Amino acid sequence: MRLTIVYDNEVFMQGIGLQSDWGFACQINTSKDTILFDTGTNGDILLNNMEKLHLNPYEIRKIVISHEHNDHNGGLPVLSPFLTTCDIYRLKPNPLNGVLRNICVEKPQQICENIWTTGRLKGPIDEQALMLKGRNGCYVLTGCSHPGVETILHEAQQVGDIVGIIGGFHGFHSLSALEKLKCICPCHCTKYKREIRKRYPQTYTACGVGQHIEL
Ligand SMILES: [Zn+2]
Ligand SMILES: [Zn+2]
Repeated sequence: MRLTIVYDNEVFMQGIGLQSDWGFACQINTSKDTILFDTGTNGDILLNNMEKLHLNPYEIRKIVISHEHNDHNGGLPVLSPFLTTCDIYRLKPNPLNGVLRNICVEKPQQICENIWTTGRLKGPIDEQALMLKGRNGCYVLTGCSHPGVETILHEAQQVGDIVGIIGGFHGFHSLSALEKLKCICPCHCTKYKREIRKRYPQTYTACGVGQHIEL
């Protein structure tokens, strides 16, 4: 499967009109499904970035909102006209019109082949993360990691050994917890990006709008 960062605090691919902004969104393409994980803050920026990356919003079949902060769900209203056949997985009932199925997530569950949500993880803000089974092992995709990166990594092990993590780490700084991972891609709100890169130069993967990660 292929991940494309479509909304982030930084731009990875320069010169093609991609915009950075505080927030996070990542599109996941499998051979069968198109899933959008979070929607950034501003729907216009989200749509601009998708267009520049040749991603068609009409193809989105599932949306997962990690948590109910504006920098993760803010793009939804602008996106909603494109979502006539879309399932939305979030931690609260969803008031949007025109959406066929709203799934209010509590327990871990499968979203589609090789993709599961951790279900509601308790934290200062409750959050869900995705567990992705790639060709080389299991990965975690997180929004802000408010429940804590260690908690998320621990919970995610239910689908297998975790080899990588992608997403916002917030103020996480117990860097030894990342030691065994083969892919560390801190995005968005990660406060200690530089420290993580310094400690794990081999496994650190830069994030930013336009970055593609093959799992
Ligand atoms: Zn955030
Ligand atoms: Zn947040």
